[in-house]
Amino acid sequence: MLLLCLSVALQSPRELIAQVDASRMRENIAHLSSMPNRNTNNTTLTEAARYIADQYRQIPGLQVEIMKYLAPKGQRVPIQKEVVEVVATLPGFTDRKVIIGGHFDSINMVERTNLEAAAPGANDDLSGMSQALECARVMARRKWKNTLVFVAFSGEEQGLLGSTALAKRAKAENWKIDAVLSDDIVGSSRSLNGQSDRHHVRVFSEESPKHNSRELARFIEWNSRGKIPGFSPKLVFRRDRFQRGGDHSSFNAEGYTAVRFTEPYEEFTRQHTKEDLIQYVDFDFLANVARLNLYTAATLAEADPAPTDVRYDPKQAHDTIIRWAPVSGSKFVVYWRDTTSPIWQRAITVDAGKGEITIPKVNKDDTIFAVGSIGGVPVEAK
Ligand SMILES: [Zn+2]
Repeated sequence: MLLLCLSVALQSPRELIAQVDASRMRENIAHLSSMPNRNTNNTTLTEAARYIADQYRQIPGLQVEIMKYLAPKGQRVPIQKEVVEVVATLPGFTDRKVIIGGHFDSINMVERTNLEAAAPGANDDLSGMSQALECARVMARRKWKNTLVFVAFSGEEQGLLGSTALAKRAKAENWKIDAVLSDDIVGSSRSLNGQSDRHHVRVFSEESPKHNSRELARFIEWNSRGKIPGFSPKLVFRRDRFQRGGDHSSFNAEGYTAVRFTEPYEEFTRQHTKEDLIQYVDFDFLANVARLNLYTAATLAEADPAPTDVRYDPKQAHDTIIRWAPVSGSKFVVYWRDTTSPIWQRAITVDAGKGEITIPKVNKDDTIFAVGSIGGVPVEAK
């Protein structure tokens, strides 16, 4: 028992983020970006998937799958074909899942019709793919309560094909997904017009009654506050940037909670061109993005299920009473913020088994409340 506690204590989220190693991400990006391209229409995609799957197979405890799906004929797919992507699972004690992913396919949009055109795609999106792989390397060193799934998506540049295939499969197979962290273009802190910010990564989230993505974004901020020296998320309350898309949206479309991480100042002239090269990747910045993903996933991976039936007592009063369905043995956290605050301002942990709390001298008329399991995405009170 003592030994068990000790090994868990040694590998808390805080301990784990110290183990992120940028040099391994550099190796993976160097290898894959040296291929002429990784266009989903080409055999180079299959080659890249094999390399990534081999990297995951070297990590003890992971179950690695090369998942096949059909890329239908379309604007960016001249001939319908079966293609692949990589899904690596670290089984937990429960079947509730946290997914971390980035896409490994690339495209050259300057020479649109030439599928063989150079597309190193070092930042878009080997940065996201390699940080997921690095999270897997560190997280596989211990067993987690919940299951972790690390994904290298393909077909992103053809219209989110790979993430759509996985999200639809998840739905068909009834996967319980607590959160999807999709990292796309997370490897550079500066643009060529002189703007730079090494201290933040943007987190995009969609607000919808069908999923809890906005609350996931708020939780990422609250949970990581002060935990990663000199680095924090910048929440953006939008689905994505204008005219752009990402793999998180495929999961949102199936009703799953999912957000997108993207660097603060993108250099658009290097995206989807032969200029998306490894020498423009800032590995210290990328390591911090990996730490934020890791810290978030490690917390979510130990969380109990979210509470249900979270309600305000509607009576007029100076104090606020919140109720939820109690679960024996489970502790919950009550969060609150001003109606004008985008982020949580206060939180209190409630004793195990309880399903009610009174917050004295806080008026619900001016305040938004939520309740979450410890380390889990909170649910807003209704
Ligand atoms: Zn991308």
